[in-house]
Amino acid sequence: MKTIGVLTSGGDAPGMNAAIRAVVRTGIDKGIKVMGIQRGYNGLLNGEIFEMNRTSVSDIIQRGGTILRTARSDEFKTVEGRKKAYNVLKVFGIEGLIVIGGDGSFTGAQKLSDEFDVKTIGIPGTIDNDLAYTDYTIGFDTALNTVLDAINKLRDTSTSHERVSIVEVMGRRCGDIALFTGLAGGAEYIIIPEREYNFDNLCRTIIEGKVRGKVHNLILLAEGVGGAEDMAKKIEEVTGIQTRATVLGHIQRGGSPTAFDRILASRLGARAVELLVEGKSKRVVGIKDNKVIDVDITEALNMKKESNDNLYDLAQILSY
Ligand code: ATP
Repeated sequence: MKTIGVLTSGGDAPGMNAAIRAVVRTGIDKGIKVMGIQRGYNGLLNGEIFEMNRTSVSDIIQRGGTILRTARSDEFKTVEGRKKAYNVLKVFGIEGLIVIGGDGSFTGAQKLSDEFDVKTIGIPGTIDNDLAYTDYTIGFDTALNTVLDAINKLRDTSTSHERVSIVEVMGRRCGDIALFTGLAGGAEYIIIPEREYNFDNLCRTIIEGKVRGKVHNLILLAEGVGGAEDMAKKIEEVTGIQTRATVLGHIQRGGSPTAFDRILASRLGARAVELLVEGKSKRVVGIKDNKVIDVDITEALNMKKESNDNLYDLAQILSY
């Protein structure tokens, strides 16, 4: 393998830059030419491709976002679009493509390799932690710390006013951001798509807490369940306690990556290049029990994420 390409696709995540850096420098170390592809599959279709060297990735390990930019491409979802992408790759001599992104981006890579003669490897870059085959995705840990910082501040003000605070966090259909930050932030209640919740039970917990002398109530709500504003209104109606909703939104996708995310990104980026050098294709890299693993992309996409019942139950016990 003489030339490989790297792109970031879908939603951005802190640590993507550290992964790009690892891909570029590992590639160069192995005598491979590394081409950066800007704006995901969209940029690939437009030929936004340039050669990267060691200095192209200098001073980025600490930066959030992605220097390669990211985008979504509907054209790439069609076989004609992917044929065009393959032709562009051929023109640039790119034999292997490393895709940093989430499940949608992996599906794109899977189809490209199924249909055309190009090797692909996926690196999980998404704050959602919604990929079943890996314990963690790049960006998740940083997002947790961003949410925790916000929770700490909200606790101060909700205690002063003796209010209920509902914090809506990202994660799409995955409740991990809400669950992990709920546990780490000492939330009274965590609402995630993986577990049924009962509104009356929630209100009862709040009322009982107030009677016991609780000065605040923190509720972590995963976006996949519903909106915080609506829920705040309903809680206030039933409990009579002032309730405020905070939707953290895209702030969760930014910021300097944590040490954990930088190290994870560095390990996975390097492994992705090694797999291409070994002639492997249609694999995704990840981490299981702190060991770097690689899994067939189709198998990985078909795995169902197990719900973290132990953590949820622990958070419930500790919330009283
Ligand atoms: P995130 O988890 O952050 O949303 P993602 O990788 O899942 O990231 P998507 O928007 O789903 O983000 O996918 C990114 C891009 O991957 C799409 O714009 C599209 O170009 C490509 N893609 C997604 N799904 C498919 C598919 N079924 N077939 C081919 N390409 C796809």
